[in-house]
Amino acid sequence: MAAIARALTIAGSDSGGGAGIQADLKTFQELGVYGMTALTAVTAQNTLGVQGIYPMSVEAVQQQMDAIGEDIGTDAVKTGMLFNSDIIRGVSEKLVQYRWDKVVVDPVMIAKGGSVLLLEEAVRALRDILLPLSLVVTPNVPEAELIAGISIQGLDGRKEAARIIADLGARHVVMKGGHDESNPDEVIDLLFDGRDFYEFCGPRFVTRHTHGTGCTFAAAVTAELAKGRTVVQAVELAKAFIQAAIAEPLRLGQGHGPTNHWA
Ligand code: PLP
Repeated sequence: MAAIARALTIAGSDSGGGAGIQADLKTFQELGVYGMTALTAVTAQNTLGVQGIYPMSVEAVQQQMDAIGEDIGTDAVKTGMLFNSDIIRGVSEKLVQYRWDKVVVDPVMIAKGGSVLLLEEAVRALRDILLPLSLVVTPNVPEAELIAGISIQGLDGRKEAARIIADLGARHVVMKGGHDESNPDEVIDLLFDGRDFYEFCGPRFVTRHTHGTGCTFAAAVTAELAKGRTVVQAVELAKAFIQAAIAEPLRLGQGHGPTNHWA
């Protein structure tokens, strides 16, 4: 490991600064990790929604990964918005080439406002090509339903989906509990390592200012892994980080406000 822990995020840009590459870099900085980026798409976006999506070419994404792989190197990698199956294939090829194995896959699919951040044609590539390369995958409940191909009810349903996703090749599945409203007071994030389940409980906050919380959580897991923490430690620390962020919203913009990365 270099003198400072390094992390690379391969994700989309959110012009509004709450999610995507911007959330990842702010999180890396807060957690004392040197952050690098490979941009997969530019979005025109604010707290009201996504106004435009401009994907990068596969060559451009791969060239950015080569630039890191051939020089600075990285201790951990996070993937976020990948948009289409060509980008997923191109990213997967480079993960293998550089033997980057601390890979956190945030299977970003649909923004909270409803915009499609991963085309339907790409779900299969994400499941069959990228997931087997991941150390950790961090689906929310709707994403887990699409990946596992089942509908999920409560904690038992989430456990069943986590087993299916682990069987697809992800070494750890962290299924976030925010969308599981079977428990109105608590959010339970579930970690499955292929053998055991771990539950991380915290209070549920009712707020619309949660734009970018998924990206931020996965970025915090990535930063802690880059520093040499175990997956269980990284998830525990990331949960504390995101809980503090949601508890103290910044209240910026007119809509779905961004994550507070300073909390
Ligand atoms: N925009 C980009 C570029 C993202 O990567 C993400 C991450 O999930 C989002 C938007 C979604 O933000 P949210 O669903 O938290 O509003």
